[in-house]
Amino acid sequence: MTSQGYYDLLDAFQQSGCALCQRLRHDEKQYLSSLLYEYVTEWDVHQAMRAARGFCARHAAQLKSTGEGVLGIAVLYVTALDEVIKTLDAAPVDTPILKRLSGQSAGTTLSAKLENVRDCPCCHAMHAAEGRYLDMMVAGLAKSDFLAAFQQSNGVCLPHLRRWLPLISDAHQLKQVVLHQQSVWASLKAELQLFIAKYGADWQGEPIGAEGDAWARAIISLAGNLPNG
Ligand SMILES: [Zn+2]
Ligand SMILES: [Zn+2]
Repeated sequence: MTSQGYYDLLDAFQQSGCALCQRLRHDEKQYLSSLLYEYVTEWDVHQAMRAARGFCARHAAQLKSTGEGVLGIAVLYVTALDEVIKTLDAAPVDTPILKRLSGQSAGTTLSAKLENVRDCPCCHAMHAAEGRYLDMMVAGLAKSDFLAAFQQSNGVCLPHLRRWLPLISDAHQLKQVVLHQQSVWASLKAELQLFIAKYGADWQGEPIGAEGDAWARAIISLAGNLPNG
């Protein structure tokens, strides 16, 4: 049986940029929204907020920028702050904080206790989602519709290519992925070179066209999943 996620992935290959990044950006928005509107009272969500000391910077920025579900955010952050406050409460504040205790300063020990012991809940969910998409992308290489969609796409970003390649055991499929990525990046490099040439004072040909945003596409293609695509 082919899941809905598979067809969403095929659709994403028709958009510009890495299909897997697009799906994950969609999924993380959906995750955060359902967390805020449906799960803010769940015990295990609160345990996750304690262990993670709130969301990571990426997902915190997304939460903050939407300006939605602020009551849910407040409820979750009461718990996250409570954990941090309790940790500070347990600190040996009566002794000089920088006093050396068993070879390590009290400040170093406290700093380690403040460190999150679990990933941000959204990162954790997206890591699992990424694994499922990568499995689909490996199985998909044996299907003509997937292969056609990939070969007509702008390829995947470098971080996702690096995660995909080790999972492909078929040598022929591996070669097809590599050849397409090579051609995508060779075209992008040529666009950058054309953009640079046209930017120069000596250029007398056509004005800057589609290659005008090649620099932005290059950044995304090598960095992967940026918060705002
Ligand atoms: Zn990607
Ligand atoms: Zn995160």
